[in-house]
Amino acid sequence: MTIFSKIIAGEIPSYKVAEDDKFYAFLDINPVNWGHTLVVPKEETDYIFDIDDATLGEMMVFAKKVAVALKKAVPCRKVGVTVLGLEVPHAHIHLVPLQKEGDMDFSSKISNPDAEKMQWIAKNIAEEFNA
Ligand code: 5GP
Repeated sequence: MTIFSKIIAGEIPSYKVAEDDKFYAFLDINPVNWGHTLVVPKEETDYIFDIDDATLGEMMVFAKKVAVALKKAVPCRKVGVTVLGLEVPHAHIHLVPLQKEGDMDFSSKISNPDAEKMQWIAKNIAEEFNA
């Protein structure tokens, strides 16, 4: 079971921002920028391009809804999208609010993000998602 499956199952806490029957979105614990969100499929697949076409399409549409909510909750020029996936073997899309290109620099992360601030950001994104 991957760490993300444990998060989805509620065995490990997360700053959840959105969920449906197939996908789950939560804040990255070491964000590259405030509002950095991960979108994951509930069914465990390591490599995103091993996901079947229909599910991958649904995942991207779910990520779009999260990005729309994220952009309202954390004002930015655009929400950046990337897939790295070298660390956790459970496919995930990174969504990062961008004011400038450097806001998506994975070599510089916020290492101990303030828990109250993370909670507040997650709540605001969730409210926009569910609006
Ligand atoms: P990647 O696999 O895309 O290279 O990196 C995995 C991402 O997941 C990293 O940005 C890392 O900060 C995040 N991450 C790893 N473990 C956890 C965790 O337990 N909780 C949360 N919220 N994020 C995690």
